[in-house]
Amino acid sequence: MATSFIRSLLIEDNVVHARLILSLLEKAEAVSFDVVHVDTLAAGLARLERGDIDVVLLDLVLPDSQELDTFMRVRADVPDIPVVILTGLEDINLAGRAVEAGAQAYLVKGQINSAQLERSIRYAIERTRAQSGEWDSPMFRLAQQQFLKAAQLMNLDDNIRQRLLFPQRAQVVTFPFRRDKHEQVETVFGYRVQHVLTMGPTKGGIRYHQDVNLGEVSALAMWMSWKCALMQLPYGGAKGGVRVDPTGFSRKELQRLTRRFTSEIIGMIGPDKDIPAPDMGTDENVMAWIMDTYSQQVGYSVPEVVTGKPVVLGGSLGRKEATGRGVVYAIEDAAKHLGMKLSQCTAVIQGFGNVGSHVARFLAEDGVKIIAVSDATTGIYNPHGLSVGSLLEYVREHRFLEGFPDGEAISNAELLELPCDILAPAALQNQITLDNAPRIKCKLLAEGANGPTSLEADEILNDRGIFILPDVLANAGGVTVSYFEWVQGTQNYMWSHEEINGRLHKIMTDAFHSTLQRSQRDHLDMRTAALIEGIDRITQAKLLRGIFP
Ligand code: GLU
Repeated sequence: MATSFIRSLLIEDNVVHARLILSLLEKAEAVSFDVVHVDTLAAGLARLERGDIDVVLLDLVLPDSQELDTFMRVRADVPDIPVVILTGLEDINLAGRAVEAGAQAYLVKGQINSAQLERSIRYAIERTRAQSGEWDSPMFRLAQQQFLKAAQLMNLDDNIRQRLLFPQRAQVVTFPFRRDKHEQVETVFGYRVQHVLTMGPTKGGIRYHQDVNLGEVSALAMWMSWKCALMQLPYGGAKGGVRVDPTGFSRKELQRLTRRFTSEIIGMIGPDKDIPAPDMGTDENVMAWIMDTYSQQVGYSVPEVVTGKPVVLGGSLGRKEATGRGVVYAIEDAAKHLGMKLSQCTAVIQGFGNVGSHVARFLAEDGVKIIAVSDATTGIYNPHGLSVGSLLEYVREHRFLEGFPDGEAISNAELLELPCDILAPAALQNQITLDNAPRIKCKLLAEGANGPTSLEADEILNDRGIFILPDVLANAGGVTVSYFEWVQGTQNYMWSHEEINGRLHKIMTDAFHSTLQRSQRDHLDMRTAALIEGIDRITQAKLLRGIFP
């Protein structure tokens, strides 16, 4: 299944050539192309002005513009959008000059097949991103803005402010990856970022997603630092990722990708250095392959190099459902504080992956009526309540929620605006923004995902009196049980399920109350209070350790 869309603008006046390119794009396998075709430069520039184009496929000889000037005019209007030149054999020198002037690639019409065309376009986009946009991600801007707001309110030492604004270490790798049925080898980008090395080893997940870049991974690493410090875990924050869309990958492909990525970052990770875990697009199998690859390198088994492993390989009981369970512990504490009776509450959950499905399950066990859930394919709404058991069974069989019979299909955007008591965004970042925040109708927002709410939306929700359980608090159950898994691994302990859940419950409740107390004492919203709790702890540690030399 192709899940990535590339919005392309084809500027080509020759009808035969245009038809050829369109038919090649239609046959693409790894991505889908949404193509707008125009036959003059003026029409192309007018379309570009409207935005939402990822790549331009440009013929240089058009009725209203000739040769290099055609490229220069496109470049001047949209300097950040990659341009791939489409050329005939006779114009190859001209195409070469356009590449020298900044076009990402040229392709000779009549000599390319669908796979080559698709790949050149994908790589042109990759290169443009790598050259200009590695740090420039909306998520990194959000993480930095949140930090700066908290720093201002807590009057943070300016030296520490500068020190925490960027990660301490970041490794960017590119590596080859062979698909099962394609002859070509893909080159993909991978990252491991360590934000704070002051508190002990660094800790954080690895995500496989098509939007991963240095900025996104850095934002996630920063949030891990605040999260671990808030939960008083002896870790700094880290995160890793590979920029791929893994949804269509076979297990073999996932395994090859994981093993090669592990060997690329092997110098950075280790049980005393930096301990990966699952995140979006990765799971316990991926952790098993990382552990195996690492162990093969050092010559003995090192289960503690990752957490979130299968239990039989030294994983912890309760780790898989820990993030969802933690979200629900936090909701229980918040409900008590707000005087909400859970057995009379309704909930809407965005995302039905590992986090969302467990939130649904545990909330239902508390008597909450789950009125809507969603995944990447659809939302499902039933005002009389959905059976979580049936949803889980349906997804086990069909992989996605699409077609679930017992409710009305709605979009993810509609789902977020349903009237409910508890809204739990547990899928993607940047879901609640300036646009929809005024229409969010819950009493309690519990952030299972990392970074689902923009800074502007935060203010609107706070003004409207919606109680927010911020991501660094609400979804910290995952890394907390990861910590238990690591402790059990390094000490050769085995804790029971009850022990795990009991300890998790206490840590979540303590963190909820320390955040609430700070928020009430200093008149802060819950997110700022949680961030300040974390930042304050890291600041104390940094000042105590001093600077070497
Ligand atoms: N990826 C999870 C998070 O964002 C868990 C990290 C971990 O267990 O180290 O919190």
